[in-house]
Amino acid sequence: SDEADWELSDFVIDEDGGETEKLPVVAIVGRPNVGKSTLVNRIIGRREAVVEDVPGVTRDRVSYPALWNGRRFMVTDTGGWEPDAKGLQQSISEQAELAMRTADLIVLVVDATVGATTTDEAVARALRRSKTPVLLAANKVDSERVEADAATLWSLGLGEPHMISASHGRGTADLLDLILEELPETPRERFVAGGPRRIALLGKPNVGKSSLLNRLAGEERSVVDDVAGTTVDPVDEIIELDGRLWQFVDTAGLRRKVRTATGHEYYASLRTRSALDSSELALLLIDASQTITEQDLRVLSMIIDSGRALVVVFNKWDLVDEDRRYDLDKEIDRELARVPWARRINISAETGRSVQKLVPVMEQALASWDKRVPTGRLNSWLKDIVAANPPPARGGRAPRVMFATQAATRPPTFVLFTTGFLEAGYRRFVERKLREEFDFTGSPVRVNVRVRE
Ligand code: GDP
Ligand code: GDP
Repeated sequence: SDEADWELSDFVIDEDGGETEKLPVVAIVGRPNVGKSTLVNRIIGRREAVVEDVPGVTRDRVSYPALWNGRRFMVTDTGGWEPDAKGLQQSISEQAELAMRTADLIVLVVDATVGATTTDEAVARALRRSKTPVLLAANKVDSERVEADAATLWSLGLGEPHMISASHGRGTADLLDLILEELPETPRERFVAGGPRRIALLGKPNVGKSSLLNRLAGEERSVVDDVAGTTVDPVDEIIELDGRLWQFVDTAGLRRKVRTATGHEYYASLRTRSALDSSELALLLIDASQTITEQDLRVLSMIIDSGRALVVVFNKWDLVDEDRRYDLDKEIDRELARVPWARRINISAETGRSVQKLVPVMEQALASWDKRVPTGRLNSWLKDIVAANPPPARGGRAPRVMFATQAATRPPTFVLFTTGFLEAGYRRFVERKLREEFDFTGSPVRVNVRVRE
């Protein structure tokens, strides 16, 4: 058979969606009850509520694919939680900050029947400084009677208030046209080539993230609970370690301790996602002195889904005695079996023990994440592997593996061209063999299959 038929640019995304397409992101922000979810539903073309408005409930899905006039993009609904009245303004400001960091376009939704509230004004103030394009949607303009009210929203300083009725669909097509006009063709570049490597310091509360950050930065940073809307902190921290710069992303939350300590679960997961989005490697901190919990594993799952490189850091090792160590080994066997490729290191942020071991391990993981195997070398290796262990037949004939290529790095993603379906077990076998041969320690490896029709 002739391999020439295969167009390498011709990959299909296989059933486990190994290659995620990069689409531009539209973030919908605004106070509770202004109609954000209704607008999101309208944009993605769904009638029923996509979100349950249960206060305090963690919502996993926040981004939805959308299609308008033949263009695809993602819509992110950043609302959905109900902070207490006192914290409302703060939460909304955080929400806007997050959108400015991660979205390609922001739609601020305001309730035209209510007019601009002080919270709306605070958000507008933050958004006016944004480099990301912002559109102002004046919602609940169900009829002409409300149009005069909507006009007062010019005062927010975000340009024309675009009048819509999310629930009736009035004006939403025009808004979508505008969104597409303003939306950049390609999503924002989240990595600067040659810049510092970007690290997300993650873990549930109290595992020692800010202690480690302080230890690495070599100074005690004061914890300031600043007033919302008055300052915009630099959200990333750049630290020199072993003669090289490292960018710890989204550390503002670690510094603003008070705010995250009361941490809303939903908000914490949004923040984790955002940090992962802009990072290349995740440092997952786990408190070694305590039993590994669901909350630790939830963060781990988010890291796995993100495709980022990973180092697992067991902190508070100074508190670990013989007994605890025995239990921990069992917990690791049970809970971390999903990431046998991730290196684990035991440190104490408090005493400084083994903290200097972090950098070489992070460098190794990032090198794996960036690694590219030349196609020639990959295929001569593959031929031997497949000859020695052909894929099992299922039903009729056994599928043949014709050819492979590494379609992407960060993380390494391989595509096998076959004459038939390859079972997950066989793909895992190929992944294991790839790891043995080419060493991808610290990085996920994806193996996708392209079946020739
Ligand atoms: P969110 O909290 O910002 O996501 O707001 P929702 O989408 O949950 O909407 C809050 C309430 O406003 C719901 O009762 C909606 O039915 C209502 N609503 C949303 N859009 C409109 C609209 O265009 N006109 C009117 N009259 N009500 C709306
Ligand atoms: P974060 O919420 O993940 O940022 O955790 P913190 O850095 O605020 O730490 C939570 C608590 O654990 C604080 O009381 C720290 O002093 C303590 N802590 C952090 N690292 C260590 C460690 O290595 N050993 C011990 N014994 N305590 C630690």
